[in-house]
Amino acid sequence: MNNKIIKGFSLHGSERFHPGEAEAVKRNTFIVEMEMPELKEGEILAETLYTAICESDVNATLCKPNFDWIQRPKVIGHECSAKILKFGPGNYGSLKVGDLFNPVAQLGCRKKDCPACRSGKWNLCPDKVILGYHKNGAFGQQMVLESDRVVPFTGGLNPEFGAIVEPLSVVVNAIYSKCDIKPGMDVLVTGCGIMGLMAAELARAAGARVAIAGIEQDRNVRLKAARKRNITTVVVSPEKNLLTRLNEGVRDGQGLLFGTKGKVDLLIECSGVPQALAEAIYTVKPEHDVCLIATYPNDVELDMTYITRQSLNIKGVTGSHREHFMIAQKLLVQGAFPAAHYINLYDFNHINEAFADSIQTKIIKAVIKMN
Ligand SMILES: [Zn+2]
Ligand SMILES: [Zn+2]
Repeated sequence: MNNKIIKGFSLHGSERFHPGEAEAVKRNTFIVEMEMPELKEGEILAETLYTAICESDVNATLCKPNFDWIQRPKVIGHECSAKILKFGPGNYGSLKVGDLFNPVAQLGCRKKDCPACRSGKWNLCPDKVILGYHKNGAFGQQMVLESDRVVPFTGGLNPEFGAIVEPLSVVVNAIYSKCDIKPGMDVLVTGCGIMGLMAAELARAAGARVAIAGIEQDRNVRLKAARKRNITTVVVSPEKNLLTRLNEGVRDGQGLLFGTKGKVDLLIECSGVPQALAEAIYTVKPEHDVCLIATYPNDVELDMTYITRQSLNIKGVTGSHREHFMIAQKLLVQGAFPAAHYINLYDFNHINEAFADSIQTKIIKAVIKMN
């Protein structure tokens, strides 16, 4: 044993809560005290520096149906920056004690005959192990990690911003591998959680004109943050859905109409709301793309004949691997994604409050100082 007692934020209950119900934190989570296990060959002991609360962590806490598979108890957390404290037996190449890094979140299965793992696409492994869901993760003050699944920091990245490399890496995967964004395109992002906001920022940085859509309860925090960054915002409601709003005319910062006759060049769906996706496909121009970054709590009823007749391309994106992490680190160092604008910092002692605030969408992205 490494004999230091550390704390971790652990999922234990599986009581189902609705979105927004902060009571879930009290009922489904607790703070554990634990000792880290002895290191095996190839493993490192790391001090967790800053960990961000992911929408998936919120969904796991609420025990949404697409997150009820997580075995409990489990110290969750997969978006973090960390520092190497100690090595197990073996050769660690250029890694040194004190190095700062990001663990990748999707670790793969490590089987020699797995095509995804063999090509380094751990995110596409059918039996993938995910940090903080299959094994204890980054809401522990220390972690035991496999040394070949860490991405050392580049270019003096601030460890607080380093906590959001993982979500940004997923958006990097979407924007650069799946969305063929060309300057001048009109890109609509549905859903204004951090993934939507990151997608909006990176799509604009790639030369697109961008609008981001949310609902009434997003108006004062998430959409406001987007407006401050001069991103066009759209508030949709049951009375005025996305299609209606675009047909009525959404105007950008210069007062120009967004889209062409209510249609856009690319839709990036980040809301995870089945109805939002079902409606949003009608806003895409024929032969153009719908990129899905979200997952959905139940089946989505899509008008498939419409998709056929409009020749739409539906593209899914899941997770990220090492290359996407390296690009995300560089984007943060360069300020291409303005992390400070979207982050709220909490101490570990206030982690319950950070989860409650995240569940109630009072903030955009909670980052916890873990030690
Ligand atoms: Zn995440
Ligand atoms: Zn695999």
